[in-house]
Amino acid sequence: MKYCKKCVLPESHESIVFDEDGVCNICKQSEVKHERIDWNERRKTLDNIVSFYRDKGQYDCIVPYSGGKDSVYQLWFIIKELGLKPLVVRYNHWGYRPIVEKNNNKVFKKLGVDVLEFRSSWKVVKMLMLASLQNTGDFCWHCHTGVFAHTMQIAVIHDIPLVIWGESSSEYRSYRTAEEVEEFDESIFNQAVNLGINADKMFELLKGEVSRRDLETFEFPSKEELQRVGVRAIYLGNYIKWHTKKNVETIKRELNWEGIQVEGIPPEYDYEKIECRWQGVRDYCKYIKRGHGRTNHLVCIDIRNGELDREVGLRMVEKYDGKRPTSLDGFLRTFDITEDEFENMLLDTAVINWGFDRKDIKTGEELPDMKLWDTVV
Ligand SMILES: [Zn+2]
Repeated sequence: MKYCKKCVLPESHESIVFDEDGVCNICKQSEVKHERIDWNERRKTLDNIVSFYRDKGQYDCIVPYSGGKDSVYQLWFIIKELGLKPLVVRYNHWGYRPIVEKNNNKVFKKLGVDVLEFRSSWKVVKMLMLASLQNTGDFCWHCHTGVFAHTMQIAVIHDIPLVIWGESSSEYRSYRTAEEVEEFDESIFNQAVNLGINADKMFELLKGEVSRRDLETFEFPSKEELQRVGVRAIYLGNYIKWHTKKNVETIKRELNWEGIQVEGIPPEYDYEKIECRWQGVRDYCKYIKRGHGRTNHLVCIDIRNGELDREVGLRMVEKYDGKRPTSLDGFLRTFDITEDEFENMLLDTAVINWGFDRKDIKTGEELPDMKLWDTVV
């Protein structure tokens, strides 16, 4: 496989293009972020935007929140730096690890916020996860569409016109450039969130197994509804320079937020995607389909930030990416499928055949909290 000469992204990465020197478009975008954007100017713009919404109703804005590093930083920043009163909206995807709830208690108490949480029926979610895996090779449809659609629905229902998301999508993918100040809308939802499957399409795929009204949570509100409230959904990452490691330092220091080991990545990245117990399996899915995992993604960020030597990064990728996660056993049990069926669903939806072979795969280590995970299927 061909790799970017600057970071270590392979040609199988989503939306990648190489220039004549073999450098990828995501590295190029990162240069824009570091060199060409006037972040002081952007911050002023942000202050102007939020001043329009402050003190107009019960809440100034909605903060979508999982309890992972990004949403915790987002919430901290919105309260401490912008002085807003948010409604924290949480779409519970059923995958939270025990540490997430422990962290949330600390975060919510220290920041003093109102929290609204919603969970879809597990029976529905289970069918959605399997259908999503079968049709796209990614079982997270309910989570992504749930988080984004449900949050926008709450903005309409509670008449809260400002929604503040975290990072902008240009950070890791290249559908838009870092210079464009994008705002979240239905076109981004369809392009980057719902894996090309809206609620109607999902209803068709499930062939009557789930009723149409059970899918309403996953529907983007209509233009009329959004216009009535005047909903505007911005990304904080477009107005402040997003630096994951510094953000993590802040939430560890200010909120006593704790990290934990995640499957398939080096222990020093104990902050990355700790919020979901299916993360190890999800990263393994990506590895089966594309030949790279989450360690690759993490070292690329550090290389682009000038914090990691490319050769060291490559060795980390070799050591950690592509291990069969121990949690896969529980996953297969939950969905009552065999490992062959699981792999075939992924290989059938893969866009590139890079030569995955289970014989070459080693098993990863068990996580410290795995014994506490929910095992009800
Ligand atoms: Zn690159």
